[in-house]
Amino acid sequence: MIRLAGKSVYKGIAMGPIVVMKKNESQVKRMKVEDIQAELARLQTGIEASQAQLGKLYEKALKEVGEASAAIFEVHQMMLEDEDYVEAITAMISDESVNAEYAVAQTGDNFAEMFASMDDEYMKARAADVKDISNRLIQNLMGTAEIDFSEIEPSIICAEDLTPSETVQMDKEKILGFVTIHGSANSHTSILARMMNIPALIGVPMDLEKLENGTKAIVDGMTGEVIFEPTGMVSQDAQKKIAQEQEKLRLLQELKGKDNVTKSGRHINVYANIGGVKDVSYVLDNDAGGIGLFRSEFLYLGRDDFPTEEEQFQAYKTVLQTMGKKKVIIRTLDIGADKKVDYFNLGEEENPALGYRAIRICLKQPDIFKTQLRALLRASNHGNLSIMYPMIISVDEVKKIYEIVNEVAAELDEEGIPYKIPEQGIMIETPASVMVSDELAQLVDFFSIGSNDLTQYTLAIDRQNERLSDFCDTHHPAILRMIQMVIDNAHKYGKWAGICGELGGDLELTETFVKMGIDELSVSPSTILPLRKKIRETE
Ligand code: PEP
Ligand code: MG
Repeated sequence: MIRLAGKSVYKGIAMGPIVVMKKNESQVKRMKVEDIQAELARLQTGIEASQAQLGKLYEKALKEVGEASAAIFEVHQMMLEDEDYVEAITAMISDESVNAEYAVAQTGDNFAEMFASMDDEYMKARAADVKDISNRLIQNLMGTAEIDFSEIEPSIICAEDLTPSETVQMDKEKILGFVTIHGSANSHTSILARMMNIPALIGVPMDLEKLENGTKAIVDGMTGEVIFEPTGMVSQDAQKKIAQEQEKLRLLQELKGKDNVTKSGRHINVYANIGGVKDVSYVLDNDAGGIGLFRSEFLYLGRDDFPTEEEQFQAYKTVLQTMGKKKVIIRTLDIGADKKVDYFNLGEEENPALGYRAIRICLKQPDIFKTQLRALLRASNHGNLSIMYPMIISVDEVKKIYEIVNEVAAELDEEGIPYKIPEQGIMIETPASVMVSDELAQLVDFFSIGSNDLTQYTLAIDRQNERLSDFCDTHHPAILRMIQMVIDNAHKYGKWAGICGELGGDLELTETFVKMGIDELSVSPSTILPLRKKIRETE
């Protein structure tokens, strides 16, 4: 039995097998091998694993997108069987006594170059395919291949850290908990854990190389501990705690259908934060009054190209229709900083959190922005939509946004496509926007305070840097005074103000926010009912 301590970001408890996610080492190293036969056998196992994955991908694609799109996986299977390709790899391993990964990488590059230099357009295009199959084979050899969630039973995910693009691809039904070596309480892994009601620990000093898939573990978000290979007694205790947790959740269910009203009769809107269409089920399950933050950038993550206007329209429409008359606030894309997407070609930056991100990308590359706005304006016809713009620092930005919205509306008019311009608000997540919130309030319909970024920029503390967590006082008076200022300025001009950052779900501050005059709190779905309970207990 091994006990390790970390920082808990969601206080649940779970027990089950682990799945270890190893980082994908992009650098393949040349190594000398003594046992050529063993290396050739390893290559064969890697090829078989890759063939099996491709076979499954073919079946899945066939069902979901049809024969024409699925055919590519058949082509990849054939290329993996190609005699010239396999012989070139085995010859390199035998003649030069090198490791299989290196031989595959070299052969993959040589073949790709050869294809790329051909005159025939079809053959040219095969260069990308040979690279793709070589990468798959290398990942299988290194043991860093993506996890096939359809194959595993519900598990505890152990990883160094998880990027938003990694979590977005996970089958949420299969996750019992998260345990990571890095990460911070405001990182998106933590946000996801809170949404799903599953325990998560960050900052756990585990050795991923020594952990094996399938090992039994307990993640205890209440004590902040993960226990690998627990003894029978420890497992029994955990089982009891899991039962108590379930009882607590059952009692909270009794609050469903009740109002979020203080003892003196003040009503607060309690909404939920989501990252995708599938998350709407968590919103309804927890009886939220609406969606206060739909992080639309999740539609852009974990894929190779921009989502089309139609794909976005369908996603927004589904959410709006499912929510009926309830308010749905969709934030326009907030790519950049920790949410990296290759096809945006954003390049490396010294300080990504202070860099080219969110509304800055939208204003500089209006084509990307317009596609999203078209989808939003069209979807607005199908429910109670509000749009919200992230990372605003000035009045000028809002004016530029409105110009673009008007251009989009004029284009839709011209094309005879039905649409509606919905309520438009902004996120207050930079100190600059707080300081000019009196002017901004005259321009927009509402404010939603993004306390995660507002805290990072006000305290000069990188929200991803776990080494700074001791310095990160989320109740810092500077933040609380800023929130008061924003609420007052909104009310001065008859607008409403809410909080959609993680602070909104901090129950120690609920009473303070109510006293400040907050109109709305948008929190992870798992916090909806505990927050309702807290509001109802507040004077
Ligand atoms: C915030 O910054 O508080 C916020 C809600 O946005 P995100 O966490 O997606 O940056
Ligand atoms: Mg933010």
